[in-house]
Amino acid sequence: MVKPKTAEEIELLRENAILVSKTLAEVGKHVAPGVTTKELDTLAETFIRDHGAIPSFKGFEGFPSALCMSVNDVVVHGFPSDYVLKDGDIVSVDCGTLYKGYQGDSAYTFPVGEISAETRKLLDVTKQSLYEGIKAAVAGARTGDIGYAVQSYVESFGFSVVRELEGHGLGREMHEAPGIPNFGRRGHGAKLADGLVICIEPMICAGGRGVYLANNGWAVHTADHKNAAHYELTVVVRKGGAEQLSTFEFIEGKQEVSN
Ligand code: MG
Ligand code: MG
Repeated sequence: MVKPKTAEEIELLRENAILVSKTLAEVGKHVAPGVTTKELDTLAETFIRDHGAIPSFKGFEGFPSALCMSVNDVVVHGFPSDYVLKDGDIVSVDCGTLYKGYQGDSAYTFPVGEISAETRKLLDVTKQSLYEGIKAAVAGARTGDIGYAVQSYVESFGFSVVRELEGHGLGREMHEAPGIPNFGRRGHGAKLADGLVICIEPMICAGGRGVYLANNGWAVHTADHKNAAHYELTVVVRKGGAEQLSTFEFIEGKQEVSN
């Protein structure tokens, strides 16, 4: 059963969405060659707790940390570690919060120092594919319309879409119905109701779309070990078009993190 959220629930989800947006910006300020992913995780956890929230990923089905930190060929669900970021790396940072009983969930792939033009293209196309998906998240449309929008955009650049993982509804639970695949057929899948809150999160590979699970049971790697990128935003489905709850504006300097 796919239920839209009430106005009160949407406001609580918005508070979470703003906090994850600001946390990602805080992390982004410190992404640089020489920094470990564990150091970035620690500062994110401190930032979240200082705002009275809980890092919702920590302890979720045994996940060890506040952030998923996925470097280069890791698509998602990487563990923060003593790995020292180096010039030319990319790091996908996925952040979740629990605040006032509701969830926040967004992700951003950061370049480390100078990256190649090819990798820059992967990041730009993946982020834009997320916005293409958001444009399709109109009340009355279906999940397949979002998937089609993401997939057709990405594949027009020769990149590929991971199919084993998908976006989701968001509320009191981190993963609610409906699933939001990043591939699909227009007019297929669950219908999107006005007031439905969803996370759209393209996971895009520079090479082939094959992936495998690491021995730790969490990290998802590209099979060909080429880079992958991941961007995620939380939106409310509306009749005239989706409304973004989380934003990259704090990361990209278009809004100040005031507190
Ligand atoms: Mg996420
Ligand atoms: Mg998510």
